[in-house]
Amino acid sequence: MSPTAEQLEIQSLARDFAEGELRPHSADWDAAQALGEDVFDSLAELGFLGMTVPEEHGGLGFDTATYLLVLEELARGDASVALSVAIHSGPVTSLLAHHGSEAQKARWLPRLAAGDAVGALALSETDTGGDPSSIDTRARRDEAGQDGGSWILDGEKRWVTGASQAGLVVVFARTDEEDGIGAFLVDTSLDGVTVSGRETTMGFRASETARLRLEDVRVGSDALLGPADHGRTYAHEALDVARVGIAALSVGITRAALEHAIRYATEREQFGRSIARFGAIQGKLADMQQRVSGARALTHRAGEAVQALVNGGGPRTGPDGLTARAAVAKLAASEAASWVADEAVQIFGGYGYMRDYPVEKLLRDAKGTEIFEGTNEVMRRVIARELLRDT
Ligand SMILES: Cc1cc2nc3c(=O)[nH]c(=O)nc-3n(C[C@H](O)[C@H](O)[C@H](O)COP(=O)(O)OP(=O)(O)OC[C@H]3O[C@@H](n4cnc5c(N)ncnc54)[C@H](O)[C@@H]3O)c2cc1C
Repeated sequence: MSPTAEQLEIQSLARDFAEGELRPHSADWDAAQALGEDVFDSLAELGFLGMTVPEEHGGLGFDTATYLLVLEELARGDASVALSVAIHSGPVTSLLAHHGSEAQKARWLPRLAAGDAVGALALSETDTGGDPSSIDTRARRDEAGQDGGSWILDGEKRWVTGASQAGLVVVFARTDEEDGIGAFLVDTSLDGVTVSGRETTMGFRASETARLRLEDVRVGSDALLGPADHGRTYAHEALDVARVGIAALSVGITRAALEHAIRYATEREQFGRSIARFGAIQGKLADMQQRVSGARALTHRAGEAVQALVNGGGPRTGPDGLTARAAVAKLAASEAASWVADEAVQIFGGYGYMRDYPVEKLLRDAKGTEIFEGTNEVMRRVIARELLRDT
């Protein structure tokens, strides 16, 4: 489906922001392993932290297609910024908007939309990434608590993107319920919440990846999202939605790599002519464009399934359900990003291998998209499971 005039306008706003405010600083942020201090303020001013927050809660309430167009543009400017926005908007804000009580929504959504609280996701643990159902973080009922419905959280989460900037973290923890996992809305200012162990990553270096320690963290019953044993379902939904966001982000990286490659190929001369005149380079550019187009189409196809979920319908399972479409999009787009960024480095020749040029960073960033929110081996497993579900 072609974008509407309104979607094109929003996309153009995101593109201008990415080109003017993100791309020029991207290499410096990567080297410093930190985003510019005012990035979140600027994102909030543009409304880009409230894209998935309904208008009645202070957000822009974008449809999924518009949200994905913006993420793609942000990633084209800087992938670390896009990752932070994707996690804030997907597994945190969307999940809360979809499953939160009216009180939870009223408390958190306006703050998330305004950037007063940035959202983070704490699912993975040291021994638990690919298999979230085996998490160790515990939530026990605090019988001595005032209303008898409070909880005490204990455990350590790993690889939490944006942990120290976050005001709200969605923490998945094992509850007392039989085999139950709960999803908790944890205010990071609470006693017992600490961030440590900032990782030095290969790509996405400007988006902090750190540990989140929870020691006797007391939260009220109002911190529990839905029933105490629904965390597993919410984790799957959060991952489905997040994977579509990562697919859009990957398309943004892919486009950036292709654009840099085209520019360089037309400027660089060897053997007395521009390298863009060589068939070998033209073949690479054509294959890169093919991957961009394919990845984008699959991302928006998955976006339609997310939109159906937001509207309260659409199949979740089976080959055409949200879970399979999200996994297909994430798999295709992340592999496209790595492949295209690799080809861009090749087109740049020796310069491509240098930190002074932008394409080696794109390759480092692209690799991350094959790993987080479920590795691509897990994506293939998910897709096969949905294909074989009724056999
Ligand atoms: C930069 C970055 C940011 C991240 N941000 C977050 C975040 O904000 N919040 C969060 O909760 N987590 C985050 N993560 C964690 C990420 O989601 C996990 O690292 C990822 O899911 C993989 O888990 P793992 O590292 O435990 O790998 P493992 O699950 O141990 O996998 C190791 C290898 O085994 C393969 N494998 C595992 N299971 C299977 C299987 N069933 N079939 C076939 N192969 C399999 C994997 O594909 C991989 O090749 C982040 C990770 C990174 C690198």
